[in-house]
Amino acid sequence: MRVSVFGATGSIGESTFDLLIRRPDITTVALTGGRNVDRLAQQARALRAQLAVTAYDDCYADLKEALAGSGIEVAAGTEALIAASERPTDWVMSAIVGAAGLAPGFRALAQGATLALANKESLVTAGPLLMQEAARHNARILPVDSEHSAVFQALVGEDVTKVERVIITASGGPFREWSKEKLARATLAQAMIHPNWDMGQRITIDSASMFNKALELIETREYFGFEPAQIEAVIHPQSIVHALVGFRDGALMAHLGAPDMRHAIGYALNWPARAELPVARLDLAQIGSLSFEAPDPERFPALRLAREVMDLRGHAGAAFNAAKEVALDAFIAGQIGFQGMAALVERTVDSLLSDAGLTDPVVALETVTTMDQMARSRAREIVLRMS
Ligand code: NAD
Ligand code: MG
Repeated sequence: MRVSVFGATGSIGESTFDLLIRRPDITTVALTGGRNVDRLAQQARALRAQLAVTAYDDCYADLKEALAGSGIEVAAGTEALIAASERPTDWVMSAIVGAAGLAPGFRALAQGATLALANKESLVTAGPLLMQEAARHNARILPVDSEHSAVFQALVGEDVTKVERVIITASGGPFREWSKEKLARATLAQAMIHPNWDMGQRITIDSASMFNKALELIETREYFGFEPAQIEAVIHPQSIVHALVGFRDGALMAHLGAPDMRHAIGYALNWPARAELPVARLDLAQIGSLSFEAPDPERFPALRLAREVMDLRGHAGAAFNAAKEVALDAFIAGQIGFQGMAALVERTVDSLLSDAGLTDPVVALETVTTMDQMARSRAREIVLRMS
């Protein structure tokens, strides 16, 4: 089998690398990263990749130097990233963060490769297009979000038309018990501490604000095709149960596992087989108890916004995600407070309601990009008025 990894130097990328390094039977075609060229070069040498690509033109010389004498091809920039996704391969890990991950995944599907999809933004912004593209090229998309991999696994051998509901869990993040007043003063450093998962900076903050779960509700709808009313999110602070699927006879099939993304990645890598994976085995007696609680929409409005976006359909997902990315940047830059993020996203989507295109069906990648850019500039205007 041949594989390529997009976003190899990130949190998901490193977990993927950890599985690939144990598999000498797998050929690595392309690895891509951002500014961390030393790590990208190390990975490329260790996996004997054919090609290493940095997303940034100005990092080209450093990557070239780091790979001198290795025989590994080097490239840089957005075009090179796209070209890398067109290189013949069988399995592609999509683990770039943000809307930038959309185009490479799309091209990977066009060559018929299996797309292991960690980049949830692809489904949130262009779900119908991505699913169509997979169908057209007889390519498969395998979910690599822990909740979605869990749902996928709970559905093996089942008749999806007999599914009543799907429940995805959320840890509740570091601010689960914080009051509204305290949340208003939450700092970046505080938002960066996730109780259970070790992830990239952006998704960690999205977990604290519940925007990650908001994206995941939309992701569930787009990937599995369930109606919004069938999809629920529940707080489960231990992050042991990742998702549950409820059938019409009342049975709930739950997926449990240690909070380690190598499980979902490994499942997608070996699917439909199950291979041995280096993940911790659960000691249930030691864990003792699992608890669940309803999310509080007052303190965490992101889930309500996701429901509005699901009702709007069309390009609302692209607008929502773009506004969320701008909100995150503004919070990281100290321009807006923690709760300003949800306020900004809501104001951006509302302000776009009267513009042409928000609820038009998604039929081409270009219109998704246009909406993404429109929402980003609108959100940036609103940030200036907020700060
Ligand atoms: P990360 O920030 O740790 O890594 C992101 C990777 O993408 C890095 O290799 C970086 O160099 C690259 N990158 C960043 N911006 C880029 C751009 N504009 N163009 C090209 N490359 C770029 O992120 P992560 O936590 O690994 O998350 C990756 C994706 O997986 C996200 O969509 C996230 O929502 C999803 N995901 C992550 C986890 C997790 O446990 N980390 C779990 C589920 C889903
Ligand atoms: Mg998840």
